[in-house]
Amino acid sequence: MAKQPDSPDADETPRVADILAGDRRALARAITLIESTRPDHRAAAETLLEELLPHAGGAVRIGISGAPGVGKSTFIEAFGLHLIEAGHTIAVLAVDPSSALSGGSILGDKTRMELLAKRPESFIRPSPAGQAAGGVARRTREAMLACEAAGFDIVLVETVGVGQSEAAVADMVDLFLLLIQPGGGDDLQGIKRGIMELAELVVVTKADGVLEAPARHTKADYEAALSLLRATSPHWKPRVLACSALNGDGIAEVWEAIVAHKAALTDVLADKRGAQARAWMWHELQDELMASLRADGRVAKQAAKLEEAVSDGKISPSAAAQKLLGVFLARD
Ligand code: GDP
Repeated sequence: MAKQPDSPDADETPRVADILAGDRRALARAITLIESTRPDHRAAAETLLEELLPHAGGAVRIGISGAPGVGKSTFIEAFGLHLIEAGHTIAVLAVDPSSALSGGSILGDKTRMELLAKRPESFIRPSPAGQAAGGVARRTREAMLACEAAGFDIVLVETVGVGQSEAAVADMVDLFLLLIQPGGGDDLQGIKRGIMELAELVVVTKADGVLEAPARHTKADYEAALSLLRATSPHWKPRVLACSALNGDGIAEVWEAIVAHKAALTDVLADKRGAQARAWMWHELQDELMASLRADGRVAKQAAKLEEAVSDGKISPSAAAQKLLGVFLARD
């Protein structure tokens, strides 16, 4: 079972100095606190984050997504070990909104990334179950800042490709990497155009053995598909690569492409991160407003009546929304 967000661990606020010194237990406790939904924990987390923020921002932030079975954990393990060999430290955070429904495709699977998890240069943290995609993503963003303050120089944010969470992850990273499988044909494996548009890097997995030739074809298909998409950045043209996490072919090239992307964005990275932080602020505000609106007794009373009236077609949804907003804003 995953640790619940408001587990007793969160009661013990970790020391900032311990986190900054890279103490992994302190970092883990900080993230538990960040993920907690209890109001007193939230307040403590805000204070902690304020102290950590000046020390954050030093990592390369990479988002990784792909359908279940595409090879995410195998890739992240091979990629992470490669980076560690090159002298880096790496934190892996997971955003898994599907876990609330399915019982967890990222969580609960203890054998994932076993070798990487054993390395002192890595830190792997799954997301809490039972929250909406947006909520998980926001807390993951804060966890990412904590990992940066703890000195990790690469943060990977993994999400399972079920559609809701990719945009949220793309909004918190410098580069979004989409993993796809060899084969799949003309429909490009049903990967939505919107998700393709988010990807700065597409990587075909499992390019080994009998799958090597299909992987090359898939790579060519995606290169063609990407060339048809409208350019989303004047600074970077999305690339398609192929690799094998089993024999290591192409893994170094993925990192080289990420380094090239970082170089290409040097002058605009601060702007990109600034825009992401501003968008995050508005998301937070939206969520906070919705939460206090839902917690408001008078709104709840009116909402029950208005929902019925909307269902029966007696009042339009927009008029009902206006009424509820009026009740909310008129409170003492
Ligand atoms: P995830 O669900 O996306 O995390 O996928 P996994 O990493 O668990 O991999 C799913 C399956 O694909 C497993 O059976 C892996 O052994 C296999 N797989 C992953 N990477 C490779 C690869 O590079 N080559 C081959 N041949 N198989 C792979």
